[in-house]
Amino acid sequence: MTTSRNAHVLLPGATLGILGGGQLGRMFAVAAKRLGYRVAVLEPTPDSPCGQVADIVIEAAYTDEAALRRLAEASDAVTYEFENVDARAVELLESLGKPVHPSSAALRITQDRILEKTFARENGIPVTDFAVVRSEDEARAVYHGDAFPGFLKTARGGYDGKGQARVNNGDECAAAARAMFAAGAQDLILEKLVPFEKEISVVACRGRDGSFAAYPPAENVHVRNILDVTVLPARVSDQSAAAAVEIARKVGEGLSAVGTYCVELFVLPDGAIWLNEIAPRPHNSGHATLDACLCSQFEQQVRALCGMPLGPTSLLRPAAMVNLVGDGNGDILHGVDALLAEPDVALHLYGKAKAPKGRKMGHFTVLGGSGTSAEARARELRAQLRWGT
Ligand code: AMP
Repeated sequence: MTTSRNAHVLLPGATLGILGGGQLGRMFAVAAKRLGYRVAVLEPTPDSPCGQVADIVIEAAYTDEAALRRLAEASDAVTYEFENVDARAVELLESLGKPVHPSSAALRITQDRILEKTFARENGIPVTDFAVVRSEDEARAVYHGDAFPGFLKTARGGYDGKGQARVNNGDECAAAARAMFAAGAQDLILEKLVPFEKEISVVACRGRDGSFAAYPPAENVHVRNILDVTVLPARVSDQSAAAAVEIARKVGEGLSAVGTYCVELFVLPDGAIWLNEIAPRPHNSGHATLDACLCSQFEQQVRALCGMPLGPTSLLRPAAMVNLVGDGNGDILHGVDALLAEPDVALHLYGKAKAPKGRKMGHFTVLGGSGTSAEARARELRAQLRWGT
């Protein structure tokens, strides 16, 4: 183990372990390696995006106890890249005496929408009205007319809009609940629809010493519930931006978080900011920080995990990020050469061999004079790309 005289600081040369080998793990690994750290990854799929760049690859199920022990042995500190990881796996890693961030306590709250919204309420963070639904009858009775339309969601396990349905009355709510229970869901949550004007997020980081750093709020556009475009900074008032960062600060403190996390937020017509959900890890809406900031959300995660000072979060230039999502028409992205001829573009591809419909394959970021001009250019440039054979 490489430590400084302060035993809590992991110096470059130490090995950082990561559970999960997707693109978030890959970008974390690249940031770690740029600072001179080594990376170990546990991931069941061969040739994973993170496995391609890690020093040590343990190919096993996330719940494989022997593999988790090997990851802990190989690593000086451990993190993970997705919040649907089994909390017992994280508890096992914690019991082996290595620093693990996010902690299992933070994980438990953020992987359950009921606990998450209750946590928000208890910490004075505005959220929409919600009710817990544990049976079909509860679904029919839970809310009366003024509570609809709403979103019925599985409390656990959903992402990118999976495991949720928009419902307009008690009967629709009961029917959606029946389908979700039949599919294996346990608890459900009914949230009142928020008449938001736009969706924004704040990517923030907390150090082991409680230090806090937040990037400016990002503005997010979703298509079919998958993040499509992020504009940095969000086009919101200074007051809304400050309220958003304040929510991020409260969330980090309330969870005693260490590391990078993201709060997804709704902006209401009067500028008020409400929390939608928390991701206890680097987030897709923070990818523009790789190219628009000196210290990216991934480097920030490395710094926090190692007990290093957090890095600067100001924007060098406004930016827009667009996701490159497979559409089922082929695995080769045509037009990359023309894209790379552009002066203000940074392309990131995740090394995935197959591009089925809906799979996040990469992203690119355009820097501009303003978020609006960067967004317009990014959309133009993406229109020139095509998946094919
Ligand atoms: P989630 O997985 O909870 O982030 O939901 C995915 C997307 O569905 C959000 O980004 C919103 O666009 C929309 N959505 C979810 N919950 C609500 C809500 N209570 N009111 C309005 N829109 C919602």
